[in-house]
Amino acid sequence: MRIDVPTLLVTLFAGFLMLSLQLWMAQRGTLRQPEVRTWAQGGLAMLGGFALLFLRPWMPAWVSILVGNALFLLSAALYSRAVFRYLLDAELPRFYWPAVGLCCAMLPAMMDWERPARTALVSLMLAGLLTPVTSLLLIRGWRTGAGSMRSVALMLVVTTLTLYLRSVDAMLRPEEHRDLLQGDLISGLAILLSFLCLLGAGFGFVLACFERVALRMETMATTDGLTGCLNRTTTDTLLAHTLERGRREGSPVAFCLLDIDHFKRVNDCHGHQGGDEVLRAFADAVRGRLRASDVLGRMGGEEFALVLPATDAPGALRLTEGVRLAVEQMAVQAGDGRRIAVTVSAGVVVAASNSGLSATRLYMLADGALYDAKRGGRNRVLLADPTATVRLIETIENSSSKTVAGNFS
Ligand code: GH3
Ligand code: MG
Ligand code: MG
Repeated sequence: MRIDVPTLLVTLFAGFLMLSLQLWMAQRGTLRQPEVRTWAQGGLAMLGGFALLFLRPWMPAWVSILVGNALFLLSAALYSRAVFRYLLDAELPRFYWPAVGLCCAMLPAMMDWERPARTALVSLMLAGLLTPVTSLLLIRGWRTGAGSMRSVALMLVVTTLTLYLRSVDAMLRPEEHRDLLQGDLISGLAILLSFLCLLGAGFGFVLACFERVALRMETMATTDGLTGCLNRTTTDTLLAHTLERGRREGSPVAFCLLDIDHFKRVNDCHGHQGGDEVLRAFADAVRGRLRASDVLGRMGGEEFALVLPATDAPGALRLTEGVRLAVEQMAVQAGDGRRIAVTVSAGVVVAASNSGLSATRLYMLADGALYDAKRGGRNRVLLADPTATVRLIETIENSSSKTVAGNFS
């Protein structure tokens, strides 16, 4: 059994042509990412290599061999560059481009070689140029948020290993590599696997780029750009969710509103940038005292919230008091080198698992306690009494329903 190499090469050529065109158009539209452009350039270089391979009978051999193989080597370098940029946000290692240059410089020496020897060395060069990126993908690509990068890693592992094997095969069985179109099943499979997997890696890479964009959009939609805290909508949703879970599991949930004291003065004295610096430092200081399950959200301006699952009143007060002290001791420097003194006031409320308190009511209660903390002189933590206020709210609701009933009667 044999693989029909001309048909295979035409199919691969068509595949690389389609992928490169689509990538080129995508990176000119909304997917304007340098990595996608670099991968598209790699695809175009690969296409050029294939084109010169086809046109060999109709052009001087040196053009086909030298330029064609140089284009294959260049495409391996460009694919590697795209992945390095994606995973490390960095350029290729320093040795890389000189190595590509060295490989290209060796091509003219191969002009007089037999075809199997040339195949062995070019496959070895390609495999060697793909080895750094394949190693990087196995080390870093496996752990990245984008699952598609794992498929790129797998594809490039197969490509690189196949190219190494093809090189060894060409040395051990030169007769099967004397004519590209007349090789046996193994030599045909080697071409098929190495280039097909490279094509597959291209699809995986585009998916990984889209995954990254989606991930970024999700982060932007759920977190606050300045402090990295969750935004208000997400915090509200999480509070409701945590309350529901506390009810099911029979554990209390603490909610706490934190408001930086006299923040307007910080802005007035140190400028908006100084204020932003304080907000960032504040968020870092609070985050440093939280457990993994605790949530810090920015509710707006200089007001933040803590959602603390499975936390009773003493626990919530201990944690919030710790936060207050940590903020007091924060060393934020203004642009002129002066220390910006910061304090915070907090209102805490704890919902017992059977309290039936809604997220909205918890917010109102914590806000009330925060207001009292401000009135009491700031830089303090106050605990709201949920039962008292629940009774108060019930009274208000009863009286208002009576009023409504009265209006209808
Ligand atoms: P209090 O102790 O009563 O809380 O007083 P305060 O000055 O902290 O509160 P106030 O609500 O009067 O002022 C809040 C200020 O926060 C006003 C607003 O300009 C500022 N602010 C809101 N968002 C941002 C932001 O993202 N960056 C900066 N630098 N300032 C902000
Ligand atoms: Mg304030
Ligand atoms: Mg405020």
